[in-house]
Amino acid sequence: MDRLITTIENRLLRAWLAMLAHLRDEHTISALTARIAVGHHDPVGGLDAAAATFAAQAHAAYLAAGQAAARWLNVQFNKSAGAWAPERLTVQTSDVWRLAPVEKKLAAFDAADPAAVAWALQNRLNLIREITNEQRAVIRQILVNGARSGANPREVARQIRASIGLTEYQAGVVERYRQELQSGQLSAALARELRDGRHDRTLQAAMRDGRALSPEQIDTMTERYRANWVAYRAENIARTEGLRVAHQGSDAAYGQAIANGDIEPAQIQRKWNHSPGAKNKKNERAFHRVMQGQIRGYGEPFVSGLGRSLRYPGDPTADAEETLNCRCAVSTRLLPAKGAKRPDAVPQAQPPTAPPTAPLPALPPVPPMPSAPALSPKVSDPGRAEHIGAVEFDARSHR
Ligand SMILES: [Zn+2]
Repeated sequence: MDRLITTIENRLLRAWLAMLAHLRDEHTISALTARIAVGHHDPVGGLDAAAATFAAQAHAAYLAAGQAAARWLNVQFNKSAGAWAPERLTVQTSDVWRLAPVEKKLAAFDAADPAAVAWALQNRLNLIREITNEQRAVIRQILVNGARSGANPREVARQIRASIGLTEYQAGVVERYRQELQSGQLSAALARELRDGRHDRTLQAAMRDGRALSPEQIDTMTERYRANWVAYRAENIARTEGLRVAHQGSDAAYGQAIANGDIEPAQIQRKWNHSPGAKNKKNERAFHRVMQGQIRGYGEPFVSGLGRSLRYPGDPTADAEETLNCRCAVSTRLLPAKGAKRPDAVPQAQPPTAPPTAPLPALPPVPPMPSAPALSPKVSDPGRAEHIGAVEFDARSHR
């Protein structure tokens, strides 16, 4: 799942940044100034359309995750079928009919499935609403502050353009950084975590010499600080949304396979893996570390260390504390179907007349095989059990 999530996150990150670049290109300071000067209440036009481009990428990622999960199921079916093929077995009994290759299944993720379509519509609405509401709230606040302080339209336009892609809180932090630079509170500016380190020496020298920064220096420093915040938020969004759609897409694929009768719900076993791809410990949370190894069936929620239910990492119905920046992932195992018989159970040294170990069904010439030929963990050939027993979904091979 790890690799798939990373690919999806990168895609969403690019989509988010492209959306912001488009909005900034469309809204130059002079264009914004003109609209603000005539009292426009929604000066940044095209927000909904821009948000829709991001929602479309989220949908594409969801489909990719569903298709990867369906491909993985197919690999499991084929492996099982191969293991049951006569040439792979040394069993020599009259029960040759038992060794007929399993009916080959072909799981596919159907984007036109009603549940997948409903997901796409709802996801699009939610994303557009969240993105535009958040952006409009920032813009409104800047307009209100501007009116209150009597700022000129061009200054308000500059702040609005700078706020594109930031939350209200983040836009406020960037403005305070600019004020610190303007008012000479340079030690405060130097303490900011997301500042651009390239300016540290300039700031230190200015502090030492008691010198004011030039307007150009202030613009450059603020612009870089702003860009760092935009990148920081973009990564958070790509990570959170990527984790969500990856799990929702694969969940939907298993749901379809169950609905099609390819697998039984009880065959899906999901395991919580805490922060498998964490690059730094910042994303760690103790109440997810305790979830490591938690096992759940299909549709059963996991429980975090805070006692909250999570259907999967990034579950949008869970508290933000549980989902923001989470790097956990769920891996899935396909368990043998109930009632499936293992080929090794056929006694190898028995004479052809030996009774089969399990009651035979009334003879159809080639009876349909159980949906997923199963091996109990205690088979005589552990190597093969490893091969065709329960297998974990590892998206590393499914890009
Ligand atoms: Zn987590």
